[in-house]
Formats: sequence, C-alpha cells, structure tokens
Amino acid sequence: MGLSPMMKQYFDIKEQYKDCLLMYRLGDFYELFFDDALITSRELELTLTGRNCGLEERAPMCGVPFHAANSYIAKLVAKGYKVAICEQIEDPKEAKGIVKREVIRIITPGTIDIDESTNAKDNLYLASVYITKKTSGIAYTDITTGEFTALEVRDNHDNELLISELVRISPKEIIYFDETSSDFIETYSKTSPGTYINTIDESYFKYSSCEDILLSQFEVTSLIPLDIQDKREVTIASGSLLLYLMETEKHASPQIKHLILKESGLNMILDRSTMRNLELLETQYNQSQKGSLLDVLDKTHTAMGGRLIRRFIKEPLKDSDAINKRLEAVETLVDLPVNRANIVSSLKHVYDFERLTARIASMRANGKDLIALKTTIRELPSIKDELCNIDTPLLNEIYSSLDDFSELEALIENSIVEEPPFTITDGDLIKPGYSEELDSLKLSIKDAKEWITGLETREKERTGIKNLKVGFNKVFGYYIDISKSNLPLVPDDYIRKQTLVNNERYITPELKEKESLVLSAEAKINNIEYEIFKEVRASIEPYFARLQRASASVALLDVLTSLADVASRYGYVKPIVDDSSVIDIKEGRHPAVEQMIGEGLFVSNSTLLDTVSRSMLIITGPNMSGKSTYMRQTAIIVLMAQIGSFVPCEHAHIGAVDRVFTRIGASDNLSHGQSTFYIEMSELANILRNATERSLIILDEIGRGTSTFDGLSIAWATIEFLSKPGNCIRTMFATHYHELTVLESKYANVKNLSVAVSEQGSDIVFLHKISEQPASKSYGIHVAKIAGVPSEIRKKAASKLRELESGSSSSPLSSDQISFFGQSIVADDENEYEEIIDEIKDINLNNITPMEAMLKLKEIQ
Ligand code: ADP
Repeated sequence: MGLSPMMKQYFDIKEQYKDCLLMYRLGDFYELFFDDALITSRELELTLTGRNCGLEERAPMCGVPFHAANSYIAKLVAKGYKVAICEQIEDPKEAKGIVKREVIRIITPGTIDIDESTNAKDNLYLASVYITKKTSGIAYTDITTGEFTALEVRDNHDNELLISELVRISPKEIIYFDETSSDFIETYSKTSPGTYINTIDESYFKYSSCEDILLSQFEVTSLIPLDIQDKREVTIASGSLLLYLMETEKHASPQIKHLILKESGLNMILDRSTMRNLELLETQYNQSQKGSLLDVLDKTHTAMGGRLIRRFIKEPLKDSDAINKRLEAVETLVDLPVNRANIVSSLKHVYDFERLTARIASMRANGKDLIALKTTIRELPSIKDELCNIDTPLLNEIYSSLDDFSELEALIENSIVEEPPFTITDGDLIKPGYSEELDSLKLSIKDAKEWITGLETREKERTGIKNLKVGFNKVFGYYIDISKSNLPLVPDDYIRKQTLVNNERYITPELKEKESLVLSAEAKINNIEYEIFKEVRASIEPYFARLQRASASVALLDVLTSLADVASRYGYVKPIVDDSSVIDIKEGRHPAVEQMIGEGLFVSNSTLLDTVSRSMLIITGPNMSGKSTYMRQTAIIVLMAQIGSFVPCEHAHIGAVDRVFTRIGASDNLSHGQSTFYIEMSELANILRNATERSLIILDEIGRGTSTFDGLSIAWATIEFLSKPGNCIRTMFATHYHELTVLESKYANVKNLSVAVSEQGSDIVFLHKISEQPASKSYGIHVAKIAGVPSEIRKKAASKLRELESGSSSSPLSSDQISFFGQSIVADDENEYEEIIDEIKDINLNNITPMEAMLKLKEIQ
C-alpha cells in the first residue's frame, strides 16, 4: 500500500512547516492530521477521528469548520502554538487531479490579527532584537496598525536598558538569533513569562538581505532617508523583522509605510519593578487594571486613544519643553468644558481609525470596515470646529492634521450599502446607482425574483397546504417544502427533489426555469460587486498617509481630552515642570488610593526634595502608617506631571527627572528560586549603578531581608552613598531602623520625617500625616505595652534605648564605622534583652490574636 495522492501532498507541505500545526483545507473544513491532530484535539477538546490515507492504519484526524476557524486558531496561538494555514489555491472544479494547496499564512502570537485575540486598547507587538557586545538593535511592529519602530540601545550593564525597553514595548513575540542573545533572552523570559520567545534562523540576520528588504519595503534607494545608514544593529533588527513577516504573511505588509527611528533617551526609562511597584498599568495584588494609574487616567473614548494613553504612561517625557507643550494643551481643554464635551460626543462615533486604515492598506478590509471609516471621517469636521479658535501649539497641530476627507466620504457613501455583510464575495455590498451594469443585471432578474417571492402564497392557495414553504439552500437551490402529512395534497406538476425525515422537497418546471435565470445572474452580480468593492477599496490607497496622520491626531486629542476630564473631575492642578532640581508638592494625594478609600478620607501630605539641601528623606513610622503610600504618591505625581497630566495636590513644582527607581516590598522573582535578600540586593545594586543626579529613588525597608545588623549596615551605607556631596540624588527612604535617623545630624541634606500615629486608649490610630521629625523612638516599647509585655522588660528596654540614644554605651551611632555597631552590641552582656525587644518589635499587632499574644508572652517569660 502507498500513500494516497492527497496524503502525499499533505506530507510534502508538512515537511516544510514542521514547527507549526498545519491546518489543511478540505472542503468546508481545516483538517489536522497525525500529531497535529492529537495536539489539537487535546488542546481544544475536539473529537479525534481518522481518515484512510493509504497506510495500514488510519491517519488520526481532527477538523474545525473553516468559517469558525478564527476562534480555534486564536486559542491554539494563545497556548503557544504556531499555526500554518494551508488553502486550496485553485478551483476544485477546474483542478486536474488533486487540488493545488499552499500555505498562505503562518499565524504566531506576534502576527495574529484576528478579532478574537486582539485587545482593542492594547498594541500587538512583534519585536526582533539583535544584540552585540556594545550596541543592540530593537525593531517592533504592530501589523494591525502598521506601526514600525526601531531603536538603538547602548547598554552599560547586563542588558539592563535593553530589558527595560522590551518591558516597555511588551511584545507578544520576540524573534532572535540564538548565538548572540541567549543570555539576555534567558533573563528576559524569566521576568516576562507571557512573551513568546522565538529562536529563528541566522539567515534572517544577514546584513545584506536585511538592507535589501528595508529598501524595497520603504521604497528608498539607500538607508540614508531612513536615517539608519550608520546603525548596523538597528538595520539588522528591522530587516529581520520584515523578513520574518514576509515568511509568516507570505507577502509584503503594505500597511507598514514608515520606519520610525526612536531616539533613545527622549523618554524616561521605567523598569519592570517600578512599573509594578507604582501600579502604573495594573495592581500588584491581583494584576487588575482597576486601581492602577491607567485606570485613573484612561477616560478615552476610542480604542486608539486607549492604546496611546497606555503608551504615555509607559513612556513619560524627560524634556520639560515637550512636557509643557502637553500640559498647556490639557490646560486649554480643562478651561473649555463645552468644547471638550463636544469633542467627546464626536469621539464616541469614531471607530478604530488606525486599525481600519491598516486593514484597508493591507487589502483585508470588508464592507463594514469601509462604512466604519465613513462614519469616522464624517466626525472630523465637527472635531476640527471645536479646535478652530484655540491658540495652543499642540492643539493647533492636531487641528491642521485633520484633513478634509469629504471626497472619500462621498465615494464610500455613493458606493457601499449602509449595512454590508461580513463577506465581500457574496454580493449585497454595492448601492444602486453606482454601476449601470450592475443595476441592469439586477433589473433583469427583478421579475423572476418577485415571482419566486410570491410563490409561497400562490402555492398555499392552490394546494390548500397551510404550512407549505418555499426555501433556498446552496446545494439544492430553490424548493417547495411539504410536510409528510400533507403529501396527498401535492399536485401532479411537483417534481420530487429531496427527501428529509419529516418532509419532502419539490420543484416545479417553472420554478426551475426562474431559478436558473436568477442563479446565473446572481453569480455574475456577486462577481461584479466584488470587483467594484475591490476598486473602491484600492482607491482609498492615495489617502492612506493622510488617514494615518489624522488617526494619530484623533488618538492624541482623545488622550489630552481624557487627561483634561480627569483633571477637572478629581480636582487636579497643573504642575510647574522645569529643569530645576526640586520636587515640591503641596498637599499631594495618591490618585488611585484616594479613589479606593472614598471621597475626603485620604490625608494629603506634602513632599519637598531638592538635590542641594534636602535630597534624602528618611521616613520612619510603624507598619501600616502610610509610609509606602506617601513615597509612591510622590513618584506617581512626578510621573503624571511628566506624562503631561495635571496632578492630585494643591501645588506642584517638578524639576523633571530622568528615571524613577523603586525598591519596594516583595519582589516578583521569588518563584525563580532566588532569595528575597539576593533580589533586594541586586535591585539595589542596579539602582546605585544607574541613578544619576536627575533621578528619583524610592527605597522601602532596604535591608529587611537579612539579619538586623547586616540590614542596618547596608541601609546606612546606602544612605551615605546617596547623600555624599557631589552625589546627592533625590531619595525617599522608608525604614524601621530608627538608628538611621541620626544621619540627619551628619549630613545637611538628610531630613527625618515620620508618619504620625495617635494613641487612643489601647488603640492606635493611624493619622497618615507626615511630620518633619523622626518617629517617637519609644513607639516600639509603647506597642509592647499595648501587647501586655511585663513592665520589668519594658523598663529594661527603655533604659537600654536611652543608653543607645545617648551614645553612652559603645553605640554604633557615634561611630562612622558601621561594623563596630554589630561588635559592640554582641559584646553587650544585656544582649538577651535586646533580642527580646527585637522580637516584640517584630510582632505585627494588626494580625495577632489575643490568644497568640498570650502565647508569645509565655514564650518570652
Ligand atoms: P506602610 O508602608 O507604612 O506599611 P502603607 O503605605 O502601605 O503603610 O499604608 C497602609 C494603608 O493605610 C493603605 O493601604 C491605605 O489604605 C492607608 N493609607 C495610607 N496612606 C494614607 C493616607 N494618606 N490617607 C488615608 N489612608 C492612607
């Protein structure tokens, strides 16, 4: 026995797509065979069947209907599979022998553009990285919008910048070539387990083929117009990306028209832990958008505005002029509530202009897309009207990029019906009056169609069969349907056509005649409609660049309007942003916590930092008092200002920062087997290496993950390092080591702050108010009292504390050598009380039950 011809064809094709699940088109189904079938039936819970293939055993087979294939493909790709779509590429009726088939597309996580898997308010990026020792190139594209961006990264340590850039881009798929980048990829995939990392062949990364494809894609004769002539790594990253797209799409991607070379250094870098710690896009607790900064700021009305505001948050600006340009536009919109309301009501009718335009350019748009485009461009004049008398540079730019598309609108209006179907090959697309040929064809079958429409009523009357029906299906054409009980009433001229369980279907000679007239004309009509549709769609091509420009402007306007809405809704103010070294926030609030705990309940707090006299704020206070919220709120207000947003406070003066570093709480890497302390230290090392005098650093409980002395020593040394003359970096440092507060007297730029707590009876009330002094040092002992620790121990603890404070014992605080600290205490014969006090200090009173407290006491006794 040998393979059947069809299976032979299958194997020939499968051989070339070994790493994909091959969906092989058979009639109305995509079939998968052998291992592909086993995987698919398991993953999608579909029935596994078999098919004779010429071999002794039947081939395992699993199929999905082609019209519903998208949702199955989306599920498979989401599970990390690549899917190759193999189509019949000739009409089976005309095929000699076996129908020719070819893979027409490979779908991967970074190239899947079907509705089932794209999030309207998020980009779908595919990225390529090319890494050399000194310089790396990243290129990324969203094939659903046509955006194509490249950048060069000059890394200093451990690919830290490269990883931050990729975290910002958050691609769904990264392609790379193994040898150059495996270390980096390993690090990246640990922190971003959701990204599909795709090792591809070295041949994609050859300079000459990369150059060639760039020249042809962007229709240029050299790399100079793209400005990447001296950027080898960027050229290779960009070229490999296009070559890979060519391989997966099987044709060029016409929606990609421009290469944007992103200048590195224009935006603030936010690393992954900062984005998570500050909950910029999602909360740490349950990864939900609700409760994040994005949730507070995103009041956009269009999908592209939603994508842009997400990008704004991930890429705050550094340049104060650019920031002020945005702030000025937001201010204008805040001051013009009526215009803003009108803009919003227009935006509600705007579809995803950016993706529509890309679909039209890549010839994937259907009739519904064209109608959506018409509806959208129809709104532009009224949006423009709202901006016409405004004298703000950014809003003026938006105004002038909203072109007049009335000709295009008229073209679609005249040609495409208002409610076209999803398919473009089955007619019902083109309006009457647009094509004479089409209209006369339609007219020629008008009588026959009316005759068929009236047939049911006429035949019911003639035969007396009340439930007689006239129907149509693609296989049998028109028929008269009679239920079995009425068969005796069937007239003689009925010819039986098809027998069903409960019915018989008939045709009459006259119906047959009308049917052939109608069907042959309809096939022609559908064909003509399809051709006209393609012509109309192609005639949009010349508008493409202008449409892209307009859609970018609408997205920007949507974001600015959203920021203005948020500002007036929540009472935010316009910050002063400049290049000074100050961060001066009066009565600031945390934008997300404020909304969570309810109106009027958030206690506002001021922050004053500058690199000269107040660069280091040491914040002490018990757990849960609000230290972390206070520091995060400061960082978030700075970020909001640099995004171009108004800020939650009474007044803010922000000397723009180049980076915000945070080291807060438990880290994300715990699951990878590294100790909390190790991670804490590597994050600290990263901050100390990369922070500049323009940075803002937020450190929460540094040194907590190790023994007290180790931890204190590290915290101490860190503060000294960040406060040394000539190296003053704006830092907020929350700590439970009260000992650190003496540093205020040592360095002029170190200031102690604490969070006030009041004691009411046996309850502690958190006031959440920051005060300009260290926390009461007897606080721990006070807590011990509340917990019921015997007075003997408390007295001893209090006297030990006084001794430490006064420096009368060999206290570390009188010494520059921190290491002495450990030694001196260890040498102390009252060491055991010290341990007890530490133990008591460590009790978290918020989650200890009275019973547990009693047991603890017993243990201490
Ligand atoms: P800490 O870092 O000192 O342990 P947090 O900053 O985590 O404390 O704050 C604990 C809780 O106190 C927060 O979840 C919040 O609900 C509340 N909180 C913090 N700051 C304020 C504030 N300024 N006003 C009102 N409630 C606050």
